Amino acid sequence: RSKQNGKGRISFYKEQYQYEFSRRVEIQNKIKENIKNNAFRLFYQPVFSTATNKVTGVEALIRWPEEEPYYTPDEFIPISEQCRLVDQLGEWVIATALAQLAIWQQQAESFSMSINISPVQLQNDRLLAYFINCIDKYQLKPANIILEITETAFIEDDLKITNTLNALSEKGFRIALDDFGMGYSSIAHLTSYPIDIVKLDKSLQTNGGPKAKHAKVIEGLSLMLKAMGFAVVAEGVETQEQYLFCNELDINHVQGFLFSKALPAEEVQLLFNKTNLVNS
Ligand code: C2E
Ligand code: MG
Ligand code: MG
Ligand code: MG
Repeated sequence: RSKQNGKGRISFYKEQYQYEFSRRVEIQNKIKENIKNNAFRLFYQPVFSTATNKVTGVEALIRWPEEEPYYTPDEFIPISEQCRLVDQLGEWVIATALAQLAIWQQQAESFSMSINISPVQLQNDRLLAYFINCIDKYQLKPANIILEITETAFIEDDLKITNTLNALSEKGFRIALDDFGMGYSSIAHLTSYPIDIVKLDKSLQTNGGPKAKHAKVIEGLSLMLKAMGFAVVAEGVETQEQYLFCNELDINHVQGFLFSKALPAEEVQLLFNKTNLVNS
């Protein structure tokens, strides 16, 4: 009987595995198709200064075409990394975001564009040249461009990644460590790499409120990070209470559904027309 159960379990896993495998292959093929058809979309989530309450920049976030089934970036970005489509996809993101930055930069000189960069892209020698090409083409200042990377880029201590990051930083691009506080949260990572900005992961906000344990973590982390000289951004700010707490802690910038979700460029522009952009 137990033998039978074991067999059943194995075939269950096998089915599960086959399902996941075919789903991955399907998404992979669709990514190729979407790249070819220029069907991906780029949305922008406004970033607010706690000092002025004004928008100082945006984070570019990729969106699957408006079609069924709809996949989230958390599902299709890792797949694009595994099949190395992320270089091509990433170049489309960079070109699109920087063309848009050229427009918004005319409205506010130090307006910033944050772009998420996968570790796989950092391993590619072409990345630096691609960025330099774009800033020349659009007459952009590298300081207005923030590259968001996660700690997964550091775990293998990959020399190619370190070299690319150092070169980008020397060129004047700003580097943000994304999702800090949810994974490794290593102090060594903070001191070994050319990081300018640390983004506190949205999971730290979930229980909100100054009384929660999460609030103590945010308080302790932001104190340490500010003392180390980093600019600090809080992600996933959804309530007024969370915002006031970030403001009290002198966290520099906030992002979250309380202010705005990621929007198409035209909708972000409408928001700008209403709010006045400010520099830095
Ligand atoms: P991320 O870079 O940490 O981006 C923040 C995510 O949190 C976004 O999800 C955003 O929509 C969401 N978010 C913003 N405010 C709130 C809030 O107040 N509450 C909650 N619950 N969520 C909020 P999204 O757009 O689904 O992206 C997920 C992840 O996919 C990103 O996390 C990033 O790691 C990756 N990603 C997105 N676009 C790109 C891209 O162009 N290139 C690469 N390599 N990765 C990307
Ligand atoms: Mg990000
Ligand atoms: Mg994040
Ligand atoms: Mg993330």
